[in-house]
Amino acid sequence: MKKGKVTKIGVMTSGGDAPGMNAAIRAVVRTGTYNGLGVCGIMRGYSGLIENDIHEMDSRSVANIIQRGGTILKTARSKAFTTPEGRKAAYNNLKQHGIDGLIIIGGDGSFKGAQTFSNEYDIPCIGLPGTIDKDIAGTDVTIGFDTAVNTAVEAIDKIRDTMDAHDRLFIVEVMGRDAGYIALHSGIATGAENILIPENKTDIDDLICSLSEKEKRKKLVNLVVVAEGGEYGDANKLAEIIKERIPTADTRVCILGHIQRGGSPSCADRLIASHMGYYAVESLLIGRHNVMVGVINNKIHYTPLDKAVKQKQTIGQEWMKIVKILAS
Ligand code: ATP
Repeated sequence: MKKGKVTKIGVMTSGGDAPGMNAAIRAVVRTGTYNGLGVCGIMRGYSGLIENDIHEMDSRSVANIIQRGGTILKTARSKAFTTPEGRKAAYNNLKQHGIDGLIIIGGDGSFKGAQTFSNEYDIPCIGLPGTIDKDIAGTDVTIGFDTAVNTAVEAIDKIRDTMDAHDRLFIVEVMGRDAGYIALHSGIATGAENILIPENKTDIDDLICSLSEKEKRKKLVNLVVVAEGGEYGDANKLAEIIKERIPTADTRVCILGHIQRGGSPSCADRLIASHMGYYAVESLLIGRHNVMVGVINNKIHYTPLDKAVKQKQTIGQEWMKIVKILAS
């Protein structure tokens, strides 16, 4: 842990956007200015850092944003930042603005970038987990997950009404490239008969057998929730397999897509973003550097960035057993 007085901080959002990022930016800016720090907003993540798209912010810059989805600082993925030349340009821009501490709101990729950067240059970095996928170790919650999963639940409830009216088999594809949390939580909350996630190997014969057995029992409404990143994550392809093997099933597909990223953040996301944003600035002030701010068992928890990027959250197998029992 490095010590050193931070006087001016930069804040950015990076990687995929997540509802609640604005609430986190607001908390960082207001906690920073309250403590007499200069605060700069860096546009479009590491891209804006390299391109010197950096602007002074004050507490008025973040008025009326806590309830807004997206991110006022915009976000991007930057190839240039993965190169030493890109990171050198980023460092020079930070020096030019007098920024001596960086807060990055993003996913594990963004933290990998922060980890590399803080190893190369003497810039303390703090990560705030902002991702709808909840695929980061060292925290029970991530900014955006609660809103995204509630959006998915609301949408699936609506689908259930129409699938019930027509006795249909519906496959709903939700987001989650490497992590099945949105699928698991939204699937359980909507009473899905089957949930397919990347963390769990899918036995396709087992799935077909369970769906056919339900058809025989005249349980004609069947909901399969699938995470996009799983083995059968392409819902259209999965539907083809099911149609081929159970031709009597009236099978339909709905891909929820980007609606899961947007919308006004839930109360829970606004709270964790505000909480984490406050502790991110406090960490820089007291010299607790190069950590990710998380929440474990309802308490703020700090994980060194290098550990946060190496580990993944795991999904307990007992969840899959519960899904089977509750869908019977
Ligand atoms: P999400 O979980 O929503 O995808 P993320 O933060 O994981 O968000 P990434 O695209 O993986 O999104 O990473 C964001 C950016 O972080 C990349 O575009 C790149 O600029 C930077 N980055 C990622 N990995 C590295 C690395 N190993 N070294 C330097 N920079 C990196």
